Amino acid sequence: MKRLKEILSNIQKLESAASVLHWDQETHMPEGGGAFRAEQLAYLALIKHRMVTGRELRDELIRHIDYDSGKIVNITLSRDEKRLVSLVRKDLKKLTALPDRFVETMSRHVSNSQQAWIKARKNKDFSAFAPYLEKMIELKKQEAEYYGYEDKPYDALLDEFEPGMTTERVAALFGELKPRLTGLVERLQRKDPADRKILEQKFDTGEQWAFGMKIAEAIGLDLQRARQDVSAHPFTIGFHPDDVRITTRLNEDDLLSGLFSTIHESGHAIYEQGLSKEYYGTPLGQSASFGIHESQSRLWENMIGRSREFWSYALPLLQTHFPKLKEAGLEDWYRMINVVRPSLIRVEADEVTYSLHIMLRFDIESRMINEDMKVDDLPGLWNAKVQEYLGIKPKNDAEGVLQDVHWSMGGIGYFPSYAMGNLYAAQIFGQAQKAIPDLLERTAAGDFLPLKTWLNKEVHLQGRRYDPEDLVKVITGKALSADPFMDYLEEKYGEIYHL
Ligand code: ZN
Repeated sequence: MKRLKEILSNIQKLESAASVLHWDQETHMPEGGGAFRAEQLAYLALIKHRMVTGRELRDELIRHIDYDSGKIVNITLSRDEKRLVSLVRKDLKKLTALPDRFVETMSRHVSNSQQAWIKARKNKDFSAFAPYLEKMIELKKQEAEYYGYEDKPYDALLDEFEPGMTTERVAALFGELKPRLTGLVERLQRKDPADRKILEQKFDTGEQWAFGMKIAEAIGLDLQRARQDVSAHPFTIGFHPDDVRITTRLNEDDLLSGLFSTIHESGHAIYEQGLSKEYYGTPLGQSASFGIHESQSRLWENMIGRSREFWSYALPLLQTHFPKLKEAGLEDWYRMINVVRPSLIRVEADEVTYSLHIMLRFDIESRMINEDMKVDDLPGLWNAKVQEYLGIKPKNDAEGVLQDVHWSMGGIGYFPSYAMGNLYAAQIFGQAQKAIPDLLERTAAGDFLPLKTWLNKEVHLQGRRYDPEDLVKVITGKALSADPFMDYLEEKYGEIYHL
């Protein structure tokens, strides 16, 4: 077992070196370095592929588990170790399921398709992207066949992002969510949104940075083991629990976007810092899924960062950085950061309408893979779905079907994780409030340590011991459901808007 962990740790060191290069590419690399960086990364990926699929790892693995049947052959393994070797086998099987020629075709198609998408979006012209998407769907269907699945081909793609999830399960959860969520949005739309005039002025980005860093540190980001830089699109990348990077994007005309982005990415980074060092490189030292990762960022961004208690602590601090906000009272501020309005662009959506954007994408992409759908029908279907879920209509394809990068890069099956993150977050946060009865009072006092410590133990240190849905059940004692999320939203917004 020691040797297996060593090999996995070495593979992870190589992978993390590639991550440093990726991070540098997005933050500091001069533009001219792009071509050579691509060569470096491709070569590192090749070495990694050789290490992962090489004899050494496989020989070590089959001492513990039968590669074909998945039956444990080393009876001295602990429960954790059994889980570990089962997941290494699963990952390896997936990695080797795709023939080299298919991987090559896919990788070439991804670059072509992304370029086509950028152009098509710029020209607001779906038809220029349609043939690329059609080919992508064909390739993803093929990929699903290579991976194998029990019920629907889309399940095989979902498993990349949310292990154990199926089309049927996601549809059931979203089916629970839909009537309550659209109902809430309708009721909120009849209310006047808060007056946000005070936010319509310039906010010095240096002060924004300083305040954001204070908040990141306050909620539990360890700055001895993390740093923040600027990039075009905010992201988090962890090389090791002791070295995690986040990025942000600041705009002097938009105080809230940079601020909440820093809290969001800090939530991701606190997860990365909380992963097990002992199991570094093994599945038990990795995050449970994209959705669980997203649950951590959203819990901090929304459930804490958009709460009244948080701002009773943070508003006076914000006002020392921006004296021009001195006039803003806590109640007005709380309403200003919790405005709900259906909008066309997913990444700008508020915490209530966000999941609706995801649900319509899931409807469409699961049909793309599970059924025979004509790509030409897509813009029409998209617009009809936006109308159905959000009650509004895109003016063109750029703010409609072409807005997201995911489909062009082959990320089909990714979208549900964003909404699952909201469901996981609400259910986990409910449990945290039971475990820490004075959680909100502590929040108002600026003391986030009990929550961070609880999340470290209950979520972060678990790694991939459980599939995401099981993890939520282990933590909360209840099956995953849309109810905690809806209860949270209805209570919060019902009170703010007197519904
Ligand atoms: Zn995120």
